[in-house]
Amino acid sequence: MTQTAVQTEAARQKQVREAEELLFTGPQRLGLAKGLFLGRFVADWVMPYPALPPSQADATERAVTEVRQFLDVSLDPAAIDRQSDIPREVVEGLGRLGVLGMTAPVEFGGRGFSQMAYCQVMEEIGGRCASTSIFTNAHHSIGIRALLLFGTPEQKRRWLPPLVRGEQLAAFALTEPEAGSDAANVQTQARPSADGSHYILNGEKRYITNGAIAQVLTVMARTPVPGKSETAVTAFLVTPDMPGFVAVEPRMEKLGLRGTATARLAFRDMRVPRENILGPLGKGLKVALTVLDFGRTTFGACCTGAAKTCLRLAVQHANTRKQFGRTLGEFELVKKKIARMAAGAYALEAMTTVTASLIDRGLEDYMLETAILKVFSTEAVWMLVNDAFQVHGGAAYFTDRPLERMLRDA
Ligand SMILES: Cc1cc2nc3c(=O)[nH]c(=O)nc-3n(C[C@H](O)[C@H](O)[C@H](O)COP(=O)(O)OP(=O)(O)OC[C@H]3O[C@@H](n4cnc5c(N)ncnc54)[C@H](O)[C@@H]3O)c2cc1C
Repeated sequence: MTQTAVQTEAARQKQVREAEELLFTGPQRLGLAKGLFLGRFVADWVMPYPALPPSQADATERAVTEVRQFLDVSLDPAAIDRQSDIPREVVEGLGRLGVLGMTAPVEFGGRGFSQMAYCQVMEEIGGRCASTSIFTNAHHSIGIRALLLFGTPEQKRRWLPPLVRGEQLAAFALTEPEAGSDAANVQTQARPSADGSHYILNGEKRYITNGAIAQVLTVMARTPVPGKSETAVTAFLVTPDMPGFVAVEPRMEKLGLRGTATARLAFRDMRVPRENILGPLGKGLKVALTVLDFGRTTFGACCTGAAKTCLRLAVQHANTRKQFGRTLGEFELVKKKIARMAAGAYALEAMTTVTASLIDRGLEDYMLETAILKVFSTEAVWMLVNDAFQVHGGAAYFTDRPLERMLRDA
């Protein structure tokens, strides 16, 4: 082999090792997606179709109604888009209603909701304002998720209550200039201090939702592997008051989701106490990807909400706008678009519900299902927004209707 071929093979083997490290290792049952790959349909995971137990169903319905009433009065998605900010009253209101800590255990001030129940709430928000739903997702589904899943009892007691109440906001910082899809390629370094009491972080993060408005961030950085010359990713709890924390660009200007504050951050000799390590040392990638599984599930719910809004808007328009002496909905080509939209919204809701139920039912490894949901939901919502856009014709293009914003957000 040439030297280049040897290097390529070494890089490939390293990637395989990293991927294998991320796979679930404990005893596990065969999941839905893996089963399909292996030619087996494990019906138990989807049949009967998942439903909330009656005790949870009532509380969930009440929560959705409360959120709906609050959003009816307090949420102005067009203003959020125009002003590139989510008003403090909206954030406080969501906190008051328990939305910012809904799946956290009651002992930390949360509502103890299941993933399926929480998805119903997120669908309600996603149907109105993508910025607000992504803000909520970044705080709750990924921001505090590592603490909920991997925090020690002491860490949970210390950090969770104000986050769960929404008095503090959370963010999740994995992405860097060199670590996008290749999440394992995190370059931020965390060097232990001489006395071992701290880690000193140096590096950059970008595209971090809530990054510069959060009071607590889960940050991924490379730590030395004891006894080896290698480094591995570790998760740290970071607060912006730590000297060396720099919000380089607190709100990166962007196409859509303008209400969310997406930040570029830098850490310059930032000292983080050793007790802020979240999860096992060197297992941060596993922490990160498990957290993202949850974010992908509620993200599916946000897209389901947006999809249903597109369908509703298209039906309303098709039933009222007349051309050639008939309402648009009487034309076969428009009917076909609406039928396709209905099918997409139905599939999105079903896929989100099933995926959330896998987590609730205790399936050990749902990485494939959440990845499938993320791919499908983003593509489906793009298709639905486009179809709604086409049904509206020129009217969709103007800012007095939500569709141009929804297209940018999608
Ligand atoms: C609005 C917004 C909010 C975000 N919020 C957060 C956040 O809160 N926290 C956080 O950590 N990150 C966040 N991100 C970052 C997001 O997770 C990354 O954008 C994502 O991981 C992709 O990385 P990248 O943008 O560097 O794209 P790249 O990795 O550069 O990919 C570019 C394109 O190449 C494709 N590609 C890459 N590798 C392959 C391959 N092997 N084979 C085929 N195609 C490939 C990708 O699919 C993509 O289409 C956010 C991003 C956005 C846009």
